[in-house]
Amino acid sequence: MKIVRFQMDEKVLWGMLDADATTIHTNIDIFKNIDSFSKVIDVFKETSENSDILNQEVSRMDVKLLAPVMPTKNILCIGKNYYDHILEFDGNDDDVERVKEMPIFFSKALSSVTGPYELVYLHENACSHVDYEAELAVIIGKQGINIEREDALDYIYGYTVINDVTSRDLQSNHQQWYKGKSLDSHCPIGPWIVTKDEIDDGNNLHIQSIVNGEVRQDSNTSLMIHDIKALIVQLSKGMTLNPGDVIATGTPKGVGKGFNPPKYLKQGDEMEISVEGIGSLVNKVASSVK
Ligand code: MG
Repeated sequence: MKIVRFQMDEKVLWGMLDADATTIHTNIDIFKNIDSFSKVIDVFKETSENSDILNQEVSRMDVKLLAPVMPTKNILCIGKNYYDHILEFDGNDDDVERVKEMPIFFSKALSSVTGPYELVYLHENACSHVDYEAELAVIIGKQGINIEREDALDYIYGYTVINDVTSRDLQSNHQQWYKGKSLDSHCPIGPWIVTKDEIDDGNNLHIQSIVNGEVRQDSNTSLMIHDIKALIVQLSKGMTLNPGDVIATGTPKGVGKGFNPPKYLKQGDEMEISVEGIGSLVNKVASSVK
């Protein structure tokens, strides 16, 4: 099932998208047959079961799609989780071995989240090297702490796509990734959630980024150094994961910084991030926010 969050007539609502992705059903009952989703819905505070547009069918073309999830804690992110991405950053085998021992965690501020087709701003006053990163995102559906590997998939609600837009100069200048990963509009999410029953194996999905029609990243989630189960195990050690939390699982080779010369984003660029079985997240690049 594909779940969309959208704006129509000034209201923010949730719905189920048809298989052909043209019609949205605004029947909240669709959520009641899914284990644990009632808790996720609690996180999605805008939804009202008393809304006067429930139980309708609306065309996807008549609404504005929004980021399909708004978690309550920062976006949980994994750094350097693909071998070939470590190497394109001049990493060596020692770097790979260190990452293999423990995943790298960082986060993106919630204020950076934006939706499909929204503009991603360059913020030229703050930075000059803005980059894209194609990533599979895991959405947590059940509260848990100290989760065992064999139980990890039980805690997943579904999957979506994230573009972990990054200001490379801020990332290095401040010796910490938070600011460089958290500028406004630098976390497009979407275009929708695909529930886990429709994804046979989250660690075997084709993942791509295309900028202005040029394939930049072309990989598979099977190449993650730490797979999805391992990430849930490590993140949940001593830290409660809640329904609606989002885990960005890392990006493969082919980011702008990895090219010689680098291919950083510029005004007017169109980014398309695709993950097999989910869909494509499209955003254009604009100059600074007015
Ligand atoms: Mg990333």
